[in-house]
Amino acid sequence: MTSPLLPTYARIDLAFERGEGAWLEASGGQRFLDFGGGIAVASLGYAHPHLLQALVEQGQKIWHTSNLFRIPEGERLAQRLVDASFADVVFFTNSGAEALECAIKMARKYQAANGHPDRFRMITFEGAFHGRTLATIAAGGNKKYLDGFGPPVDGFDQVPLNDLEAVKAALRPETGAILIEPIQGEGGIKVCEPSFLRALRELCDERGMLLVFDEVQSGVGRTGKLFAYELYGVKPDIMSIAKGIGGGFPLGACLATTEAAKGMTLGTHGTTFGGNPLAMAIGNAVLDVVLAPGFIDNVGRIGLLLKQKLAALQDQHPGVVAEVRGEGLMLGVRLNEKVANSDFAARAREAGLLVIPALDNVVRLLPPLVIGEPEATEAVARLDKACVASEAALAAQKKVEA
Ligand SMILES: *Cc1c(COP(=O)(O)O)cnc(C)c1O
Repeated sequence: MTSPLLPTYARIDLAFERGEGAWLEASGGQRFLDFGGGIAVASLGYAHPHLLQALVEQGQKIWHTSNLFRIPEGERLAQRLVDASFADVVFFTNSGAEALECAIKMARKYQAANGHPDRFRMITFEGAFHGRTLATIAAGGNKKYLDGFGPPVDGFDQVPLNDLEAVKAALRPETGAILIEPIQGEGGIKVCEPSFLRALRELCDERGMLLVFDEVQSGVGRTGKLFAYELYGVKPDIMSIAKGIGGGFPLGACLATTEAAKGMTLGTHGTTFGGNPLAMAIGNAVLDVVLAPGFIDNVGRIGLLLKQKLAALQDQHPGVVAEVRGEGLMLGVRLNEKVANSDFAARAREAGLLVIPALDNVVRLLPPLVIGEPEATEAVARLDKACVASEAALAAQKKVEA
């Protein structure tokens, strides 16, 4: 199959034509229960009537004006994010990586504004993922993503997750910030220990450093809280969000306190597309639903239920499922080392369920936040089929070896 697309993805030979709620229909008519959500993006599922209405209504008015003019819908969305979080100010972007770029630049500029332009370094963590721009691949530190792209952007010092002594040992006079995902997504749903995040907060306060959270995947209700930091009772100074806030429309944001943002004065940063009226209308529509009373509580409730069902699945298939972890509807199933996660995801697909592989031999469950108990039950029934198929493959492999 030749394609004019740059071959940077090993695409699965499936194309979807339509979707509704958590269900997708492929061009051949086959239906899938989508527990990948386009990588935690389809927060309200597919064809949500409120999002459709916002898209059509704004689409008929105006899509784009540039940031040379006021954008009232953006001011409103920023105010709502500020009211619902630790932050005082917001910068809108088109993607997660751009939200991180803004966060990284802001942290550096804060130190510069305080008279310490030399304090540009950031501590980051093994297994992290912050995007694919030159700065964010350096921050993420994944060698596969850095290879062949020239010298990595300087200023990132990587240490193991949940290891406070390693953080302390990596501190230099030039260290000005710590960047961390409260729950690593691409890294395999690795959850930070609450005591670790609290210690990072203290360390930052003691040393005049900024604490930057990457909640591109964990934010906007995904974990059963609006933002994952609420699970820990630790507030960042700067936070990037994206994925879920657009419900499928490319939208990201960098949130910050006034203090942390003090270096970002007139002309220090910009974007042509970011925060355009169409994106802002859709972001507001997502928040209408996510902030409605009971919505996020329900994510926590269904997430817990799903996690319990997955724990039962682990009990039934101990040779396949090694561990279940995560919060809310950001869950990871770590598989036995003999069962490759990509093979398992293919077996789940055979059973009509979409899940997403991650590092550490994990498959991620990131379903639309609108699912209820029936979808959770159905997903686990389909995962059960994938487990049975994996057990059969393991048995066949053993036979060959014997
Ligand atoms: C997806 C992701 C990013 C990058 O977002 P893009 O929109 O792909 O640039 C950054 N950080 C985290 C935690 C992510 O999950």
